[in-house]
Amino acid sequence: MVKTIKTKRLPKDPGPAGWNEIYKDKSSFPAVDTDIEVDWVVIGGGFAGLGAAKRLLQLLGSKERIAVIEARGIAQGPAGRNSGFMLDLPHELNSDTYVGSKEQDLRQIRLNREAITMAESIAHQYGMDKALFSRSGKITASATERGYRSIETYAKHLTALDEPYELLGADELYSLLGTQFYTKGLRTAKTAMIQPAGYIHSAYKGLALEGVQVYECSPVVEMKLNDSVHTLICANGSVRAKNVIMAVNGHIQSFGFFKQSLLHIFTYSSMTRAS
Ligand SMILES: Cc1cc2nc3c(=O)[nH]c(=O)nc-3n(C[C@H](O)[C@H](O)[C@H](O)COP(=O)(O)OP(=O)(O)OC[C@H]3O[C@@H](n4cnc5c(N)ncnc54)[C@H](O)[C@@H]3O)c2cc1C
Repeated sequence: MVKTIKTKRLPKDPGPAGWNEIYKDKSSFPAVDTDIEVDWVVIGGGFAGLGAAKRLLQLLGSKERIAVIEARGIAQGPAGRNSGFMLDLPHELNSDTYVGSKEQDLRQIRLNREAITMAESIAHQYGMDKALFSRSGKITASATERGYRSIETYAKHLTALDEPYELLGADELYSLLGTQFYTKGLRTAKTAMIQPAGYIHSAYKGLALEGVQVYECSPVVEMKLNDSVHTLICANGSVRAKNVIMAVNGHIQSFGFFKQSLLHIFTYSSMTRAS
């Protein structure tokens, strides 16, 4: 039996993505302009799409054909406009006493570190330099009494989790950050920082070299789900695949899934112009 899903909304262009604008060595991939057949198709060319395609490649090698279909350009969506922190420790740790919640924090930390390790191995494999991926660590810094209290609470939680950290004073913060504004800080070691647009361009280029078919400017406007082979319809072509992985973030609802059960959060940041 065929189930037809028409996509209700497509990603919009919210304007140029800062990291993408300043990154010179961009990738470029064709649009779907014919009828293609693969074994696996991943819809969405962000970080989730990258993770899915890379993992499939690790598991299946060249035995099965894999394609990634992106509605807009690679790095024009959130992948090219986020702040680039790959945090290992949650922003907020749960409670002083850790009744019932310590396990949850520990699980989250293990998961985050697994993802950072995967991102690091992709960076090494595809020859990215430190400007695209670095194990920078993270500094939480403050200039107010209220901020000091947050740092103290955070330090207490880290101690409860047996996580190492270093407390920093004004002089150390000045020499590290180049500003005298902050007076107390806390540093942890395992966060990574990426140039998100550069990272994602390089990663998809690497995937393409390994045989993954990457397509951009190809919004999926309709899906026909069948028992054996599914068909995705784009404006100028189609993709037939036995397996579909949806890595479309909140747009999963535009395909009719998770009705009335997702809360969409929009975050914004800006980048100052180089003077
Ligand atoms: C300003 C800002 C700062 C942020 N800072 C951080 C940070 O420091 N650290 C952090 O971890 N996270 C941060 N985030 C969040 C992070 O960017 C997202 O969680 C992440 O990009 C989600 O990745 P994703 O692959 O799941 O989804 P997305 O990056 O949204 O990728 C989904 C892709 O699916 C495509 N798509 C949707 N519909 C279709 C369709 N019909 N056909 C084909 N393709 C389709 C979209 O075009 C999109 O490219 C930030 C986000 C913003 C906006």
